[in-house]
Amino acid sequence: FRRIALLLGDQLNAQHSWFQEQHPDTLFVMFEMRQETDYCQHHIQKVVGFFVAMRHFANALANAGRSVLYLTLDEADNQQSLTANLDAVIDACAATEVWLQQPDEYRLDRQLLEWVEQHKKVHCSWFDSEHFLTERDVLKQWFGTSRNYLMESFYRRVRKQTGYLMENDKPAGGKWNYDKDNRKKLSSRQSLPQPLLFGHDVTAIVKMLTQAQVKTIGNITAEQFIWPVTRRESKQLLDFFVTELLPSFGDYQDAMLVDQWSLYHSRISFALNTKMISPRYVVETAIAAWQRDPERISLNQIEGFIRQIIGWREFVRAIYWQFMPDYERLNHFEYQQALPKFYWDADTKLNCLHHSIQQSLDFAYAHHIQRLMITGNFALLTASDPNAVDAWYLGIYIDALQWVELPNTRGMSQFADGGILATKPYVSSGSYIQKMSNYCDTCHYDVKAKTGENACPFNLLYWHFIDRHHDKLVKNGRMGLILKQWEKRDANEKRQIIQEAQAFLDNLPRS
Ligand code: FAD
Ligand code: SF4
Repeated sequence: FRRIALLLGDQLNAQHSWFQEQHPDTLFVMFEMRQETDYCQHHIQKVVGFFVAMRHFANALANAGRSVLYLTLDEADNQQSLTANLDAVIDACAATEVWLQQPDEYRLDRQLLEWVEQHKKVHCSWFDSEHFLTERDVLKQWFGTSRNYLMESFYRRVRKQTGYLMENDKPAGGKWNYDKDNRKKLSSRQSLPQPLLFGHDVTAIVKMLTQAQVKTIGNITAEQFIWPVTRRESKQLLDFFVTELLPSFGDYQDAMLVDQWSLYHSRISFALNTKMISPRYVVETAIAAWQRDPERISLNQIEGFIRQIIGWREFVRAIYWQFMPDYERLNHFEYQQALPKFYWDADTKLNCLHHSIQQSLDFAYAHHIQRLMITGNFALLTASDPNAVDAWYLGIYIDALQWVELPNTRGMSQFADGGILATKPYVSSGSYIQKMSNYCDTCHYDVKAKTGENACPFNLLYWHFIDRHHDKLVKNGRMGLILKQWEKRDANEKRQIIQEAQAFLDNLPRS
């Protein structure tokens, strides 16, 4: 083969222009590697999901007449490193040209750039992954060198550029954002559609990972792998979402219920992040469903969903490329402590954390508010080191790739970037959790109690955080009201809250 074309595990884009015509002199290469299984401790479902999806993709390419070299993790020839595998294949084929798609992760981008630099004899060509709606450097293009970017301004610009939910140059329905309508609590009596699950038998891959002693976290039922692993299944999941769930998506976006792990969420993130399905396809399918039946799918549902995909998803990617590699070292509150121990086994009496973590271990999934306002909120309130928090989020979720995990975790959830991504820290006392969920109904702690033995720990830790970081928070205009509320409280009451919060922190087992 004259040419080698590399496909990474998250480049499963069957619509890519590479596949629009046959290239008989090209060998498509895909590698399962220890480099990827070991750069952090992943959930077992995440490793399995990537490998199964990659194997399906390689088979589909081969069936369509392409030449494919696929190295499984246990292959004797596998060098277990991306660049060593590339070297070996180039030598074996005497190839003179390499095609590469731009990786989304900084780590892989650097690795390949350095490799290209050292291989001047082989002609390397870079291609866009043809997945995103905006460019890596879109923030610079649109907003110059400012450090304060507003997702809302970014989102409006993408709406205008794509024409999604636009009527001429005005937003559909007259408003850009219907978030105010999207804060409803779900009743535990409300019957919810059962999530669409796939049932792949992944026994062989699980056995291979066990034999190779790959260290993973979380649980798996090997005969019932539930996530989509092909483009066809990704489309099925999306169709299920637009038919069954989208009509209530916006309303209950922030709701949480004991024993209901996915509610009205799409669970499309794994399919999107592996590129089995594109954001354009997802958005256009959802908009078409809304246009067909606007009575059933109201504007606040569709706008809420579209904003996540063309707003937040593109925006966090842009932040990532604008601020890497410095971003992964930011630590605004200078926290150093390990995560609470129960993040690894869900063994805690705090009911909201127990349920959010247990379902993460069981399904490699939690929805946005569980990630932000339960596990993220608690990690921040307990002064956890953002490096440890990042490693946990990067490992545990099936959709976790650093370009999307890092800005969400370090920026949005931990405020470790000091406000580049979020306008204020996402912290709350128990009352927010009670408002949006039924976790508190069956909790050991009393969400109404502000102090005392049974007081909800979020109530203590929230004010402890406000007190401890007064000097940093006072510079943030959005925190003024809260700071004033704290200042006005009775001195004895304040002292008691701080003492009890400190005692809780001192006794919190860390991992
Ligand atoms: P839905 O609620 O159905 O939303 C639809 C889609 O919108 C998602 O699939 C996703 O592609 C996109 N989306 C929604 N919110 C965001 C967001 N804040 N950033 C980027 N895309 C968004 N998302 C990941 O894909 N990978 C991660 O590693 C990841 N880590 C996160 C860590 C933290 C601390 C937080 C707070 C959020 C994180 N998110 C991450 C964003 C979001 O929580 C997930 O995208 C979402 O929960 C995936 O479930 P879903 O497909 O059912 O989403
Ligand atoms: Fe969580 Fe507090 Fe509610 Fe218990 S009472 S579920 S700890 S918010």
